[in-house]
Amino acid sequence: MTSSLDIARESYRSISLYAPNRAPARVDLSDNTNLWGVPPAAARAIAGAVAGAAVTRYPNLYAAELKRELAAYLGAAPDTVVTGCGSDDVLDSAVRAFGEPGDRVAVPDPSFAMIPIFARMNALEPVLVPLTGDFDADADAMLATGAKLIYLCSPNNPTGAALRPETIERVVREAPGVVIVDEAYQEFSDRPSATRLLAASERLLVCRTMSKAFGIAGLRVGYAAGAPSLVAEVEKSRGPYKVNALAERAALAALREDLPWVRARVAEAVENRGRLAERLRALGLAPVPSQANFVLVPFRGACDVARRMRDAGIAVRPFDDLGDRLPAFAAAGGEGLRISVGPWDVLEEMLAALADALGG
Ligand code: PMP
Repeated sequence: MTSSLDIARESYRSISLYAPNRAPARVDLSDNTNLWGVPPAAARAIAGAVAGAAVTRYPNLYAAELKRELAAYLGAAPDTVVTGCGSDDVLDSAVRAFGEPGDRVAVPDPSFAMIPIFARMNALEPVLVPLTGDFDADADAMLATGAKLIYLCSPNNPTGAALRPETIERVVREAPGVVIVDEAYQEFSDRPSATRLLAASERLLVCRTMSKAFGIAGLRVGYAAGAPSLVAEVEKSRGPYKVNALAERAALAALREDLPWVRARVAEAVENRGRLAERLRALGLAPVPSQANFVLVPFRGACDVARRMRDAGIAVRPFDDLGDRLPAFAAAGGEGLRISVGPWDVLEEMLAALADALGG
């Protein structure tokens, strides 16, 4: 009998399913979504759309109206924006659009775990380049790979640290091919967005999402901005109908009516992030300085601690593969916890469970 492996495309044999090891928990601080809930106008838009043609008919081919609104949000022109079914879809489509099978994709390490998977899904080869000791991307080493595609993530997941603006500028200026800057967490950062570099580069794609600050991860709305010629290629690779009709309506309502709500929740997240870091330090831990809506705490034994917290109903994201190249991670044996920032009462509950788990 032929096994499924024999008939699978060769480059797919080393791919495994994304397994962030998530399971329902009473309090879930494991995925950096918006713990304050759905923005109110977005919630009303979904409820109002269910009875009508939004469900029986196909959505917009390429989400034209949403692209206009996202462009206004970014202060960019509509023909510089492409949307997708989550920014996962936009990133995957971009890798496919600009990489030939066999090409290399330079990816910082550690960074967003899906990028090497998207590279392999499109028959490209990921090349992991360690971050510098102060959590910046190593521009020299990234450029030295000669990779046709370079991925940067700022603020970076899972460290939470923003890359230095000069590092991003240099990579964009000197890269031989396309540079993707993933700004999934940019709303929580006080560093300048890479969108300011778009006017000067035909090869920069800045990727964003409505899953984090905008609170609609379940609806799957992501987008990217770049030169019109660049986003046109991503759009070809992405294909039609990727943003479903309910998602488009909710996203439009959020952008038109919920910005004050979003900004107030972001401000609260930023304030709570500082308080959380202080409390973690008081427990003897050393959180990485974060510009995102989560905090990474490297320490030995983090995976056991996460298991004990889960038994108490609190989910945080354990890592055992942060590596030993950065001093902060080597000292922790490559282990760490990534904790999403939410309302303070939820964080208090998490901190109590963490203190118990550390004591046990
Ligand atoms: N980029 C980064 C850095 C992320 O952390 C995530 C979500 N974990 C994504 C992209 C994908 O987000 P989405 O597909 O929900 O837009």
